[in-house]
Amino acid sequence: LPAPALEALQFAEVAALLPVPATESDKYRRGVVGVVAGSDRYPGAAVLAVAGALRGGAGAVRYAGHGAEAVLARFPETLVTTGPPSEAGRVQAWVVGPGLGDGTDARRSVDDVLASGVPVLVDADGLRLLTREQVRARTAATVLTPHAGEAAALLGRSREEVEAARLASVRELAEQYGATVLLKGSTTLVADPDRAVPVRVNPTGTSWLATAGSGDVLSGLTGSLLAAGLAPRDAASVGAHLHGLAARLASGSAAGVGAPVSAQDIAATLPAAWRQ
Ligand code: AMP
Ligand code: MG
Repeated sequence: LPAPALEALQFAEVAALLPVPATESDKYRRGVVGVVAGSDRYPGAAVLAVAGALRGGAGAVRYAGHGAEAVLARFPETLVTTGPPSEAGRVQAWVVGPGLGDGTDARRSVDDVLASGVPVLVDADGLRLLTREQVRARTAATVLTPHAGEAAALLGRSREEVEAARLASVRELAEQYGATVLLKGSTTLVADPDRAVPVRVNPTGTSWLATAGSGDVLSGLTGSLLAAGLAPRDAASVGAHLHGLAARLASGSAAGVGAPVSAQDIAATLPAAWRQ
């Protein structure tokens, strides 16, 4: 029989994948996640990506972008680096792209992070600054997290074409870029470059997630899971699962229609999602 094209992780499978610190753990052994996000135009994206990263299981978050002041004002527990990501010190996985803009520095940061030998998650503006060859040449894992519009740009087609064929599109992207791809939207799909591996569909989530900044929280969270040692496909599926569950809990949508939530509310509810 051919392998099924789609699968969903059960709650128990997600629970078994969550990185729980061992008795002898220290912050470095838990993993350091590096975040390059935000710009003068979108300073909030840095704060939201860090908010997600702080609740994703890594032992430390290192921020290497232009929004250090805003990040520190909100999260003094962040380690801040000035200078390029390549000089940032120990990092086990990078998140690059939310609110980054498209200036010279943004481009250099994306190049720098992609040239590193550790797993990298690229989202938002970062997706517009990379090339397929650059991603294909990487030795460590790459995770791309586009919404339909960003996926369309990466594939060189229209958003409508991607929306009409989401499963085929996420598979094609993963294959073309040699990366794990998490396609966002009303259902979230995670594909691996290997076509034989079933695409994962996320069973949690709520349409209250359709709010500015919620994708930035997901990037930080998923990058943190990568830094904590999860395989790219697991980090992406567990990230989407926790993100969707946190939004359900924060909005109260499991018990009724629910209420609007902000991206910050989703990030703050991630510990409750883990406990569930
Ligand atoms: P972004 O497009 O980067 O702002 O990310 C939006 C986040 O909200 C992603 O995690 C999406 O999967 C999620 N999302 C957006 N619209 C919906 C929807 N209608 N139903 C469920 N989740 C959604
Ligand atoms: Mg986004």
